[in-house]
Amino acid sequence: MALHIVEHPLVHDALTELRDARTLSQAFRRAANRISVLLAAEAMRDLPAVQTTVTTPLGPADGLAVRTDVVVVPVLRAGLGMLDAVLELIPQARVGHIGLQRDEATAVASKYYSKLPPKLHDSYVLMIDPMLATGGSAASGIDLLKAAGARTIRMICIVAAPEGVALVQQQHPDVVIYTPVIDRELNAHKFIVPGLGDFGDRLYDTQ
Ligand code: URA
Repeated sequence: MALHIVEHPLVHDALTELRDARTLSQAFRRAANRISVLLAAEAMRDLPAVQTTVTTPLGPADGLAVRTDVVVVPVLRAGLGMLDAVLELIPQARVGHIGLQRDEATAVASKYYSKLPPKLHDSYVLMIDPMLATGGSAASGIDLLKAAGARTIRMICIVAAPEGVALVQQQHPDVVIYTPVIDRELNAHKFIVPGLGDFGDRLYDTQ
């Protein structure tokens, strides 16, 4: 099953703060950072590492080093709210950006921006998009990643809807979704219920 529910209590503590309508943008950003680090760590749990030795002030010590190329791809604009946190965890990662616009009538996502690093064939690609609602943007984003050569793709989101999970699983069964929760449903405006509202607006204090 290409779905991983992240149950860590600190993930859910941050999620609860994000859901709370009283959480203002400053605290919202901090909670988004906290949850993103933990979700990214979970999504990268099997990242290959090689044996190495370093010299501490007291002598040699065996260790592990990650040499695998990691590419982080936020889906604009809300995905940017997770990027800094993921880069704290994986500072060597390359970064791509994908911008997708949803047609309000058809809910079909079309690309308005895409800038991806080259040579994704052997990279671990982590797409970051906090709200997996209809799944249209996620599926289109993954289409772009695959067209650019990506083969190992995971996505992290903060809240998912059943419809979004189903669409990604149907169109991209090889892509593993990491999320703390699958909420009840989408409303008529394709917002996740209960969700947390518009992630980008809460993050950037816009309306
Ligand atoms: N995007 C959001 O920011 N919130 C939702 O509930 C759905 C999509």
